[in-house]
Amino acid sequence: MSTFQSLGLEEQFLQAIADLGFETPSEVQEKTIPILLESETDMVSLAQTGTGKTAAFGFPMLQKIQVESRTTQGLILSPTRELCMQITTELKLYGKYMQGLNVVAIYGGASISDQARQIKKGAQIIVATPGRMKDMIGRRMIDISKIEYCVLDEADEMLNMGFYEDITEILSHSPKEKSTWLFSATMPKEVSTIAKKFMHNPKEVTVGTKNVGADSVSHEYFMVGAKDRYPALKRLADAHPDIFSVVFCRTKRDTQKVAETLIEDGYNAAALHGDLSQNQRDLVMKSFRNRQIQMLVATDVAARGIDVDDITHVINYQLPDEIETYTHRSGRTGRAGKKGVSMVIITKSEIRKIKAIEKIISKTFVKKEVPSGMEICE
Ligand code: ADP
Ligand code: MG
Repeated sequence: MSTFQSLGLEEQFLQAIADLGFETPSEVQEKTIPILLESETDMVSLAQTGTGKTAAFGFPMLQKIQVESRTTQGLILSPTRELCMQITTELKLYGKYMQGLNVVAIYGGASISDQARQIKKGAQIIVATPGRMKDMIGRRMIDISKIEYCVLDEADEMLNMGFYEDITEILSHSPKEKSTWLFSATMPKEVSTIAKKFMHNPKEVTVGTKNVGADSVSHEYFMVGAKDRYPALKRLADAHPDIFSVVFCRTKRDTQKVAETLIEDGYNAAALHGDLSQNQRDLVMKSFRNRQIQMLVATDVAARGIDVDDITHVINYQLPDEIETYTHRSGRTGRAGKKGVSMVIITKSEIRKIKAIEKIISKTFVKKEVPSGMEICE
């Protein structure tokens, strides 16, 4: 088994890796990092989500750029705003010992002038969704005529989302002479087309489907009628008297309502969402940590920072709008060697979303029946 050191990473990155607590490289990191460090090559890498791709392209890119220069040298295109933010955060951690490193996230739904201002300060690396990136290049807010490294992250997802034209347009503003690294979970025709179009003799790397961590979580779904979400939640809670869980809802309103109804029905529950004052939120979190609350009903935003050990169940009362968010939700359980269960309550029409999530997490859900009242009494 290789070590990060043997992959050819500089001391400052080994230090950052130690700070992050990564012990050994994952398969995709082991296979791609040495190649990307050693040569100026194009690369196609087939790897599922959760295999550690961000570090696989992040460290080589950071080690290769000139941090003394303020020119944009690296571009990472990624399908969603959540992924952009996540990659940006990770890259900053990887490069925490690089003086003057500036990584900027560019995505829709946020102020374009704020983003333009950040770019103006000089970003060596830009992490962007294709839509906003194309827009900003068109408005001459971003110049990628000098990039040397371009990553197409989750290429299959980007193409699924209809970004083919945007990507083509963006890359037409980049120099021909650059290295392009494409990562994708699957290799449909559209992805090979894009690989042929934008890459020259790419090295190919395929890795198994083994995920970094998170193997301790099992995934279950419960199909119910539209009106039966709440009764199903109650049944699930009753069937697990020692439950210690986060229950995710989509909106602040639903979060508040579900928590209130649970409390009325005699459960140890509380709501956590953005309409509460900081003080209220701190109180709720304190009671949850002390186990005074067994079911914390929360929005995704409010739950973002939660790092509580021993959560037994994550319950998706409603699925998130962005399926990537599911990974964050389910990652709240199964920590530190413990087993955890991520449960999803769905109606019939949402089965498609389950299939999409299965692709992302490369695991299958177990279909379960909501425990009946009889079973619970026994
Ligand atoms: P992908 O892009 O393939 O979906 P990520 O790069 O987001 O995967 O990594 C998934 C998770 O695994 C992240 O939380 C990351 O910090 C963690 N991770 C990455 N590499 C390692 C490693 N070598 N050891 C432990 N954890 C890792
Ligand atoms: Mg990724």
